[in-house]
Amino acid sequence: MDLIKLFSDCIPSERIVSKENILEKYSTDESFQKFSFPLAALLPLTTEEVACILKKAYKNEIVTVPRGLGTGLSGGAIPLKPSIIVSMELMNKILEVDVNNMMVVTQPGVITGVLQREVEKFNLYYPPDPASLDSCSVGGNVAESSGGPSAVRYGTTKDYVRGIEFVSPAGEIMRFGGKVRKDATGYAMKDIIIGSEGTLGMITQITLSLIPLPKFRVDLLIPFETIGDATAAVVETIKSSIKPTTVEFMEKRAIEAAGNFLGNEMPCSEGEAHILMRIDSDSRDEMEERILLASKIAGGFTRYEILVAETFAQQEKLWKARRSLHDAMVQMSVKREREDVVVPISMLPRLISEIHSIGDFFKVPIIAFGHAGDGNVHINVLKLKNEDDFFEDSIGEITERILKTAVNLGGKLSGEHGIGIFKREFMSLVFTEEEINLQKRIKLAFDPKNLFNPNKIFFYE
Ligand SMILES: Cc1cc2nc3c(=O)[nH]c(=O)nc-3n(C[C@H](O)[C@H](O)[C@H](O)COP(=O)(O)OP(=O)(O)OC[C@H]3O[C@@H](n4cnc5c(N)ncnc54)[C@H](O)[C@@H]3O)c2cc1C
Repeated sequence: MDLIKLFSDCIPSERIVSKENILEKYSTDESFQKFSFPLAALLPLTTEEVACILKKAYKNEIVTVPRGLGTGLSGGAIPLKPSIIVSMELMNKILEVDVNNMMVVTQPGVITGVLQREVEKFNLYYPPDPASLDSCSVGGNVAESSGGPSAVRYGTTKDYVRGIEFVSPAGEIMRFGGKVRKDATGYAMKDIIIGSEGTLGMITQITLSLIPLPKFRVDLLIPFETIGDATAAVVETIKSSIKPTTVEFMEKRAIEAAGNFLGNEMPCSEGEAHILMRIDSDSRDEMEERILLASKIAGGFTRYEILVAETFAQQEKLWKARRSLHDAMVQMSVKREREDVVVPISMLPRLISEIHSIGDFFKVPIIAFGHAGDGNVHINVLKLKNEDDFFEDSIGEITERILKTAVNLGGKLSGEHGIGIFKREFMSLVFTEEEINLQKRIKLAFDPKNLFNPNKIFFYE
């Protein structure tokens, strides 16, 4: 089928990518897995163009895969069979910062960090901060219900989405929610679309609520002698009145990997694990009180000195290390399996300890880091050298054991990266057959022909 001709009524041919070398990037995401080569990538500028594309694709039974900026880690934007990609990369305009209502209205392709910096000019704050914030899109964040370190205090993307403009797989434009802070009108449709991993339709405009920009911000880097001390300190901190913004955990091997990747000395190399805690406040006195309490609680678990970062430059140095961890894992291994499990916070010490026992049992390096403050840990099982055949032999069993460990502790398969293609087979660990079938029926109500990003989250065929 001549796709350029088919879609020429919808968008000009310059925005239909058909060259193989350029299409390469649309065949994968940051999981670097490939299954099928895209037929074409279409780059619309407006909601009407999206609607026209989807209508034609649906009528002609063409499989469509929506894409933000391709930083996903669960394969949601990867075509599994010959498909067109509808990329939001050019729908990247912030449409309105509404200071009076403390809302921002945006197209989905805007980079999250760009949106954050734009609203800060108005003394407003958009808290969700995935570590990929300078490369991922707001639309991708909504589709994945992404979180970030500051979810501990401020919640995740879903807590800020007030309105969604959406194009159904058959090409109908719909709007749910708006600039309202509460809404009991009909089903909570926007909440079904949030976190649906691009399986229900295309998000083309988003209204997000904002909060006042906190006046003071301090980061504490706390080294611990043992991993157990660090995770126990996290549990105590969360129970306290500190109300930390972030409580990030990094074990020693992660810290060393970040140091190697960045090619520089880390701000602190002591201890077997570090906690990176951020505290926000509007009052200097309150901030000092909370720093004192945080130091007191941490002091009960560590003998090391706590590093305090008050200036933006000092803070960036600490966060650069944390944000480089994904790339550091990629650099140090030839292959890796990533888990993103989440458990009740009180179970964190057991999760980390049981995961290391799995690594010891299979003699495979497992490195954990991530959002300890909300029980969400990124677990990296690494194949360090090509000759490490045992990785392939045992990775299936290791993955299953890690996921079962989390579920047995009352947890879930994913805290923020989503299910996509890589965790579909494990959904029966958390849902009954009836619960899975209900969710599949929801998908098919949106997409009766099952042509829109099919076989993601669940298997359909
Ligand atoms: C270094 C690194 C760090 C990361 N850190 C975090 C983190 O801290 N927290 C976190 O949550 N994630 C993190 N991620 C994962 C990733 O950045 C997020 O999932 C992000 O939200 C994906 O956005 P994207 O624009 O790149 O989406 P893509 O990868 O392009 O797409 C992701 C999914 O969303 C769908 N989609 C995208 N846009 C739309 C749209 N407009 N309408 C409908 N569906 C759409 C796609 O079909 C796909 O299923 C990290 C990734 C990397 C590489």
